[in-house]
Amino acid sequence: MARKVPLSKVRNIGIMAHIDAGKTTVTERILYYTGRSHKLGEVHDGAAVMDWMSQEQERGITITSAATTCSWRDHMISIIDTPGHVDFTMEVERSLRVLDGSIALFCAVGGVQPQSEKVWHQSERYSVPKIAFINKMDRIGADFFGVVESIQGELGANAVPVVVPIGSGEDFEGLIDLIKMKAVYYEDKSYGKDFREEDIPEAWLQEARKWRQNLVEKCAEQDEELLEKFLEHDDLSEDDIWGILRRATIAREVVPVYCGSAFKNKGVQRLLDGVVNILPSPEQIPPIICEEDESKRRKVDDEEKFSALAFKIVADKHMGKLTYIRIYSGTLGSGVNVFNSTQDRRQRVGRILRMHANRQEAVEEAHAGDIVAIVGLSDTKTGDTLCTEDDPIHLEAIEFPAPVMSIS
Ligand code: GDP
Repeated sequence: MARKVPLSKVRNIGIMAHIDAGKTTVTERILYYTGRSHKLGEVHDGAAVMDWMSQEQERGITITSAATTCSWRDHMISIIDTPGHVDFTMEVERSLRVLDGSIALFCAVGGVQPQSEKVWHQSERYSVPKIAFINKMDRIGADFFGVVESIQGELGANAVPVVVPIGSGEDFEGLIDLIKMKAVYYEDKSYGKDFREEDIPEAWLQEARKWRQNLVEKCAEQDEELLEKFLEHDDLSEDDIWGILRRATIAREVVPVYCGSAFKNKGVQRLLDGVVNILPSPEQIPPIICEEDESKRRKVDDEEKFSALAFKIVADKHMGKLTYIRIYSGTLGSGVNVFNSTQDRRQRVGRILRMHANRQEAVEEAHAGDIVAIVGLSDTKTGDTLCTEDDPIHLEAIEFPAPVMSIS
């Protein structure tokens, strides 16, 4: 069976944040907007998604599973839960291993905080491309440019704003999209309302032009051909900017910066555009399937021999043991046997589930680049490799540093 979403449109991402920066709220908004725009299953509008979420919250249940799949502009996004607490370092490392890109979330008042700094450096070790989202722009003391400076100064990243806020604190009205050069406004409270794009108001034009110039210069610096274009025209096209942002982010030469307020429903849609336009698909990252024997590398391709990594095991009330896997190569069908090369034993795959915000979808097959939950796999542990028995491989061993218990 062919895959529904082409590999180029798959995004496996995490959200990294210091506790309280708003990860839960931003994730909710992402699930809300992505659910609404694509009418998930029986849910016909966003209100139903939110009703479900508020029920979940009342019961005190976390709203995301270890990996929640949603869609935005024809792309399939899997959001892999990346724990924010430092004492879960092992779990953080494991989740960083299976994602291809990440949103680094910061509070506009708190800025770069110890836990965000720690996860940032961990993600650098795994070469994870990142875009930043500066949340809570509606709070008094919100300082977008101050946080951008700290991302540069404290984290050593080449942070490049692709939006700038219109006002801050109580006066936070919306954004200037520096790629489109449009002002973007959002309705304040209603979930149902969308954004509207307008010409940039006179009062903000100078500021907008300054930051557009900064964006274009930072892009031009990355590529000689673009630099020539820029020197000739003193500007770059939208396509040129998206193209170079994508390449430079994947090469970890730049970190595009978005901002908004999850609380006031501002800015999250632009962030989602950044996820699909900038962050890599599984086929764009270098192969991390490594064995001592180089010839055994597997391509990220459905036709390749199957290989996957088990990265999280969850005891589900109804389903029993659920093993979350990332498939690196090949195709997996439900009801088949696979080989666990770590345990040296055969394992039966029961149902294959794609986890959405409000439902589990059983699928017949999962493909290279997919993140799915498997029922069955009775003896599989986190970190194990699953593959074909006739030609087994071991995915790169994960080395975990000692857990860090406290941070001063
Ligand atoms: P997490 O610990 O990172 O998951 O953070 P939460 O999403 O639980 O948010 C922590 C607190 O910040 C909650 O009280 C949220 O309501 C609040 N919060 C989240 N996003 C925003 C925002 O954009 N603006 C404001 N003012 N508060 C926010």
